[in-house]
Amino acid sequence: MSSNQIKKLVRGIPEPTIRRMPLYLSYLKTLDLNEKTYISAPKMAKVFGFDATQITKDIGYTNVVGKTRVGFDIKELIPAIEDFLGFNKKNDAFLVGVGNLGAALTKYGGFEKTGFKILAAFDIDPTKVGTEINNTKVLHLDKFQNLAERMHVTIGIITVPDEYAQQIADKMVSWGIKAIWNFAPTPIKANEDIIVENTSIYSNLAVIIKKLK
Ligand code: ATP
Repeated sequence: MSSNQIKKLVRGIPEPTIRRMPLYLSYLKTLDLNEKTYISAPKMAKVFGFDATQITKDIGYTNVVGKTRVGFDIKELIPAIEDFLGFNKKNDAFLVGVGNLGAALTKYGGFEKTGFKILAAFDIDPTKVGTEINNTKVLHLDKFQNLAERMHVTIGIITVPDEYAQQIADKMVSWGIKAIWNFAPTPIKANEDIIVENTSIYSNLAVIIKKLK
């Protein structure tokens, strides 16, 4: 993790902490509560390869306090992390670009446990407009603004080809979108008041390929 990232704060919380929390949550949910009711920071440290002090510090943001020797009450910790992450609230999104990646994200059921839902997908290809992906309608891009306003959708996902990503981002912003999750390889730019998360699968891939060599 770069020192640049470590300094970044989101509402007073270090961004790396926010990135680690979903990892803790997913792991805690795999535990059998009949076998285990408490988990210690050193045990979690072993699982994740992080420092135990770091884990205690991260969990401290949820206000859950560990018990000496036994650690954190898992039943208390799971909803506390969900609450911290806002995963227990509704977060609705619209997606633009129903290619293979866009369709896969639209289909993906795993988002449900985070309260995140892709309410509709948009495209300009007439062979795609009017179809459905697992009950999610694919609509023409022309309908985006009106529907976003009516449905109070403020998150946009971009899965169009790279060359169109910035133009879609600009449109989304002009249509009232406040947060953009971009999957096109080139990072998109927007005003500072817009939340932009660029997810380049090629960066992860590059690390794997380079390490293999
Ligand atoms: P497919 O072959 O099914 O299109 P793909 O993943 O190779 O799959 P891409 O070329 O990456 O597709 O395009 C992704 C989607 O983005 C396509 O469905 C395409 O119609 C759509 N798209 C491209 N330009 C725009 C645009 N300006 N606005 C909305 N959708 C667009």
